[in-house]
This record gives sequence, structure tokens and C-alpha cells, in this order.
Amino acid sequence: SPATKTFHTLRFPVPLPPVSLPLAFTSYLFSLLPDRFPSHPAFINASTGASLSYPNLVSQIHSLASSLHSHLGISKGHVAFILSTSCLEIPILYLSLLSLGAIVTPANPAATPSELSRLIHLSSPTHFFATSSSSSKLPLHVTPILIDSPLFRSFLESDSISHLSDPIEIRQSDPAAILFSSGTTGTTKAAAISHRNIIAVIAVMRTIQPSEKETTLLIGPMFHSMGFFAVMNNVMRQETVVVARPGPMSLTISLALKYKISQMLAVPPLVIALTQSDEAMRLESSPLRRVICGGAPLAPEVAKRFKALLPNVELSQGYGSTEAGLVSSMMGPEECCRLGSVGKLHDKVEAKIMDLGTNQALSVGQQGELYVRGPAVMLGYVGDSEANTLAFDSEGWLKTGDICYFDEDGFLYIVDRLKEMIKYKAYQVAPVELEQILHSLPDIVEAAVVPYPHAVAGQIPMAFVVRRPGSNINVDDIIEFVAKQVAPYKKIRKVAFIDAIPKTPSGKILRRELASLAASGSLS
Ligand code: ATP
Ligand code: MG
Repeated sequence: SPATKTFHTLRFPVPLPPVSLPLAFTSYLFSLLPDRFPSHPAFINASTGASLSYPNLVSQIHSLASSLHSHLGISKGHVAFILSTSCLEIPILYLSLLSLGAIVTPANPAATPSELSRLIHLSSPTHFFATSSSSSKLPLHVTPILIDSPLFRSFLESDSISHLSDPIEIRQSDPAAILFSSGTTGTTKAAAISHRNIIAVIAVMRTIQPSEKETTLLIGPMFHSMGFFAVMNNVMRQETVVVARPGPMSLTISLALKYKISQMLAVPPLVIALTQSDEAMRLESSPLRRVICGGAPLAPEVAKRFKALLPNVELSQGYGSTEAGLVSSMMGPEECCRLGSVGKLHDKVEAKIMDLGTNQALSVGQQGELYVRGPAVMLGYVGDSEANTLAFDSEGWLKTGDICYFDEDGFLYIVDRLKEMIKYKAYQVAPVELEQILHSLPDIVEAAVVPYPHAVAGQIPMAFVVRRPGSNINVDDIIEFVAKQVAPYKKIRKVAFIDAIPKTPSGKILRRELASLAASGSLS
């Protein structure tokens, strides 16, 4: 029986359909014939209403690449640090740099100057790009090119495209980008991504979105891997991405209607907000047919509410990371009913589940740390060789840090993150499980569970809860509600009410901020 079998490499069954990898990304793009360019825009900035057509995108990529090379000497292997909110110049900049073989290194413009100096230290940039509002955060000794300056505009519009004396040869194994992890479990790490990694992610995205032409609403940032790949995928498929900032749900819904959005890229907090909006019904008769959620666990209760509210909209999930790219996806109306799963492995992704104590490969149904290998897995961390050594085992498997299991049909389930498990006496408690139970209480808008130090038990599970306005649910109600549904060691033993749960821009709960809030003793 599967439970007694041990696998060295468990290639879990029934991966998603195979895909073929195109050869090179930017050369593919440049090979497109101008008279075949689609007439719909490539990108629309919802904040300004400005749009970028395909002919302009491609000609500006050429102009910018040529200017960056001839005026600034940017060339293969150079590292371009980019500090900007999402705007139409960003995809042009990303693709110009890629076509030169330079390494796209986008960072969060909301990071503090000291966080930024760490990211700069890790990635060793040779060039800097910023906006007039973000540039003051960069260290004094760097002189960034401002992407909202007349100079940059002239680079984009220059029609004196000088052909490079030596054509740049880019191999799939060359680094294309340095993407920063969200910093949810510790300090942000710098993952070097190859051209092949980008191609692999785009290739598997095709299996999630069949052949229709999508108009995608991207609310997340373009500097995070999810947004970065959304930009690349859009250009490859020649579709339209509408770029918007996070805002009130009523505004997001209006944007979706205004731009006839067919597909939304979301993180769980956005799906939660959608299911709690009185206006969500307006989407049911709109062109919206798919919401793809990823980045953090989605409570099955939230997914159920979503389906009840919008039965004609598919709720897909994607699981992956900055380091691993896209690992699995859940899609299709039937599969999406397998609540709690993040779907099947993508083609060419290998996975095994490793026992935390014995380091043995485990079998179907057993929980352990997920290790993956495959064409989307990063080249490695840069700037921190110790982190890099710890990230891989001796056979090149990437340790995801996620505790997972597979069911008999090859569906993957994320239990929690290794680093976020609560150690109650000798037991391990997964905060995600408790959060999912809390999310089934209609009085709770959002919840996060963290370890709270305890003299006898070591740690106890503590919940931070955002109550629905007008609700007077109390601490005892919450403790009792959860206690009825879990083994005694998993009970929530402490509750605090707060106004909002702190999250990363990629939609992840910052449990360590809550834990330090709890430890500070400043809570009532
Ligand atoms: P850091 O590694 O710096 O602590 P991070 O892991 O949050 O930050 P990302 O690379 O943005 O940074 O996130 C990847 C992680 O997000 C995964 O390891 C997993 O824990 C979580 N995740 C992503 N997608 C899903 C999903 N669909 N369901 C559950 N968890 C997910
Ligand atoms: Mg991580």
C-alpha cells in the first residue's frame, strides 16, 4: 500500500499536461511581425488611464535598449536595481534590460532606506533606476536614472537605434533577474532567476489559461515575482494587463467592469474582501471568468463563499515562490471543488516530501517539507552563500520551507510554513489550520494565528481577529468555537482584537510582526 512504500524520489502522479519551452523570450518577441500586432493595448495604467500599444511597446523596448547601451554602457551581466511603483515604463524597462542580457532587479519602493541598503548589498547593482518620489530612499552615493524624467522619455522615443557592434548572445542559463522574496519568515533573500526560469514559468502559465485572449487585472506589484511573471506572460501571449493599485473593493470592482476584465490575479486578502463586498454580484454578469489566487493559503470557507457568490467565475489557485517559480496549479471547474488543495504539479516539476526528523522521503498522505526540482527553480541566492547552501540539498533539490502532503490523486496540499509552526508542548500546531476555522465564522473579517510564549507549554496559539463592524463576538466565543473543532492541544488560548492584520505587499500575513506585538505587552 502507498502508506508503507518509501520513495527516494516521489514523482507524484498525474501532473498537468506537458508543455514545450520556446527558445528565447525577447528574441521571440522581436520576431513578431509588426503588421500582426494585436490592436488591443499591451498595458493600461488604471490610475492614469494611459495605455501602451503593442507597436509602441516593441519600438520603445528597442529604443530604450539602444540608449541604455550607448549612453550608459549597460550590457550583458550588469545588474539594474529598479525602485518604482507600477507604471507603463516598467514593462518597457524590464524587457529592454532582458534584451541586453542585463539583470532586472526590482525592489519594493515602500522598503525603508536601511532595508534597501541590504538589498543593494545582496544584489551588487551596477545601475540604478528610480522615480522622482522613490529616489531619495537610495543611498547618497548612487545616482539613479529617473524613469519619470525627460531624459528617460528621450531614451524611449529615440529613433536613432544604433546596432550593437557585438551582438549580445544570451543563453537560457544566463541570469535574467534578481527577485526578492517577500521577507515573511525573516529577512528578504535575493533569488537569481535565469532566462530559462522565465520561459518555464510562462510555458506552464499556458496550462492555466487556455487559448482565449484575456484582459487581466493586476493589483499586485510588478516588483514581486507574481507581478514580474504576469508582465512577461502578458507580453508573450500578446494580451492586455490592466495595472491597478490596491484600493477599496468597490473601486476594484468598478475597474473590472470598466476594462471588461476577464481574469483577475489575486492574493487571499483580495478574495476575502471580494466575498465580503455588497457589490461583488455586479461581476457575475461581467466578462470576468477567472480569479487566480496565490501567494498565501486560501481558506476553503472563503473559496466556498466565493463560489456561492459568483458561481460563473472559476476560482483557480497557484502555488509557488520566488525561488521555485510556479510549482502547481488548481484549475478547471471540477478540480476547483477540491477545496484546500493547490492543485497538481506542473509539467517537468519533480517533488518529494521529506520527513522533518529523519530526512526520509515520505509517501502519499504523509506531511513533511516539500522539496522541488525543475526548470523554474532559481539559479540560487546571491549575496548570501550560506543561505544558498542551506536552500538546496546535495542532489540539487530546493527546500521550499513549506509543510505539505499529496493525496492519492496527486493533488498537493500546503499545511503551513515550517518556520511558522507553533510548538505547543511536544506538539506542532499549524496556524493556517486555525485561521481557516476562524474564517468560517461570519463575525470574523480576517484572522491570524501566532505563537505566544508560555512558561509551561513553551508556546500557545494566539489569534488576532478583525471583527465585522457591528459584531460583538467576544474572546470566549472564539476560543470555544475553535475548541469544538480541533484536538485539545490545538486550541486557541489567547485572543486579541485588532483593526487590520499586517501583510506583505504580496498578501502574506506578517505573523512575526503580530508575535512581537503580542510580546510587547501593549495589547489590552
Ligand atoms: P521569505 O521566504 O522571504 O520569508 P516568502 O516565502 O513569503 O518570504 P514568496 O517567495 O513571495 O516569499 O512566497 C512564497 C511562499 O508563499 C511559499 O513558500 C508559500 O509558503 C506561500 N504560498 C504561495 N502560494 C501559496 C498558495 N497558493 N497557498 C499557500 N501558500 C502559498
Ligand atoms: Mg520563502
